[in-house]
Amino acid sequence: MRRLRNVKIVATLGPASSDYETIRALFEAGADVFRLNMSHGTHDDIAARHAIIRKVEEDTGRPIAILADLQGPKLRVGTFDGPHDLEEGQAFRLDLDPAEGDATRVCLPHKEIFAALEPGASLLVNDGKIRLKVEKCGPDFADCTVVVGGTISNRKGVNVPDVVLPLAALSEKDRADLEFACELGVDWLALSFVQRPEDVIEARDLARGRASILSKIEKPAAVKAFAEILTVSDGIMVARGDLGVELPVQAVPPIQKRLVRACRSAAKPVIVATQMLESMIESPVPTRAEVSDVATAIYEGADAVMLSAESAAGKYPIEAVRTMNNVAISVESDPTYREVIESSRRADRNTVADAIVAAAREVAETMKVKAISCFSQSGTTVTLVARERPRAPIVALTPLVPTARRLCLTWGVHCVITDEQYRFKGAVISAVRAVLKYGFAVETDQIVVLAGVPFNVPGTTNILRVAPCEERLIYRSEPE
Ligand code: PGA
Ligand code: MN
Repeated sequence: MRRLRNVKIVATLGPASSDYETIRALFEAGADVFRLNMSHGTHDDIAARHAIIRKVEEDTGRPIAILADLQGPKLRVGTFDGPHDLEEGQAFRLDLDPAEGDATRVCLPHKEIFAALEPGASLLVNDGKIRLKVEKCGPDFADCTVVVGGTISNRKGVNVPDVVLPLAALSEKDRADLEFACELGVDWLALSFVQRPEDVIEARDLARGRASILSKIEKPAAVKAFAEILTVSDGIMVARGDLGVELPVQAVPPIQKRLVRACRSAAKPVIVATQMLESMIESPVPTRAEVSDVATAIYEGADAVMLSAESAAGKYPIEAVRTMNNVAISVESDPTYREVIESSRRADRNTVADAIVAAAREVAETMKVKAISCFSQSGTTVTLVARERPRAPIVALTPLVPTARRLCLTWGVHCVITDEQYRFKGAVISAVRAVLKYGFAVETDQIVVLAGVPFNVPGTTNILRVAPCEERLIYRSEPE
């Protein structure tokens, strides 16, 4: 099983996609990474979905990345007896009473917010769709008027753009969720509402290498401190939902472009997220504008595009993945795509590995080889190859399952788990077997093989070989 595109697809799981059949169908339709949203669902729900993904992985024989998204200091309303329509002009109360909400009130379980609110402040609910104005407030309530109405339901997000809230980067819930997710064995942890590089470092210390850390950029403060946040993160999500609420919505596209470019240059995976195919929550076909939005992220060279409610709670989760897959195939076969990707390639090259991966791309293009195969322990060299955005597919070989899984988020990488390698000849043979097995090449083709000698020492990529895909020829020509 191989993908016919380079950009990766992240699908969020939820009530519309929590059984084996649906998750497997999402994977087969093209989902490379599954996102478990820690804001919704109990630990039992999360553990059940995690187990199903690992079962799909086992049954299909392909590594799959799991990303656990921590809620962070996100403000959310409590639960309701059902969804309610709030009408413009009506009164609506927020309070600390944990009882289920209705059309007149709901719990907002954050004391700090009531302490910081003032009459006249705006509260935005459900990605800014509903706007409330505070009329009167006290330490445990805020009486509001609905300025812009809409449907309110369980645990919708609340943004308070006018007020600076003194909130810690990781709540008690986040710490418990982080430990739970790491013990479960997720590959990536996404941190919501990161504001400072210290927030990322704190999470990294708690994760202790059990998962890679992805910072969600959704606060003005994170946009300002982006360079420092990128340095301490393993990956980035352009979280356009909250970003477009906290900042004017027209500020989002230029920020997306800047963030994608910086991540590509740093060889760290970047996900463009939120509302990509929003109308497909209800409709089996997307709007032209949504297709264009997905295409734009792909032309920019993002590592991944993401589905949120479309796959978690929508009516057409599989169609949504299929749509992204089709858009990706269409964009990536456009000659303009290659031009755009190549003219936007930017990299600081300082090391032997940097030079070798650039050479690998050149050799692959000149010799029209069918794949660049790369041995890696940590996955670092593989991300450097991906940074080159080569035309030839990248086949990453690693004996480490966690490495293979994490790399599922990286542009263009097809991961294969191999035995531990000790000699170069054996490595070339296992590379050739992998590319033949997955249909990247036939026996008359050639591939580029990248490896480091001595084997199994991270950061030693120092060999570039053009190898024939016929084992007999390798035995004859390859030195030990
Ligand atoms: P969320 O993050 O879906 O967890 O809010 C993504 C976003 O804000 O865009
Ligand atoms: Mn968000």
